[in-house]
Amino acid sequence: MKKAELKVYREQLVALRARLRGDVTTMADSALKSGANNNGDLSRMPIHMADIGSDNFEQEFTLSLLANEEDTLDMIEAALERIEEGVYGACQECETAIPKTRLNAIPYTPFCVKCAAKSQTR
Ligand SMILES: [Zn+2]
Repeated sequence: MKKAELKVYREQLVALRARLRGDVTTMADSALKSGANNNGDLSRMPIHMADIGSDNFEQEFTLSLLANEEDTLDMIEAALERIEEGVYGACQECETAIPKTRLNAIPYTPFCVKCAAKSQTR
């Protein structure tokens, strides 16, 4: 891959990492705050069991999103390392070049389409 192309992907990865880091912090804050409100503020106590369920669901949903975002951050870090090492754009499994259309969609992917499909069924 050309240096100019690498630079574009590097910039995308850095921007994505910054955005995710910002989002992770904001989401962690709001998840923790809503937890504190549910426990401590009686005026906001849900009356119906259904409400309690949906509150818990929302909080769990936010936290599971967080876990995924941290996975994504790890993948972004790894992709940035591959750029430094000069191996970015090659599948980590079979070492064939990952198509640019795929890199444009998911710049941090370590696998080609075939290997990604395989790893999901593993
Ligand atoms: Zn592959």
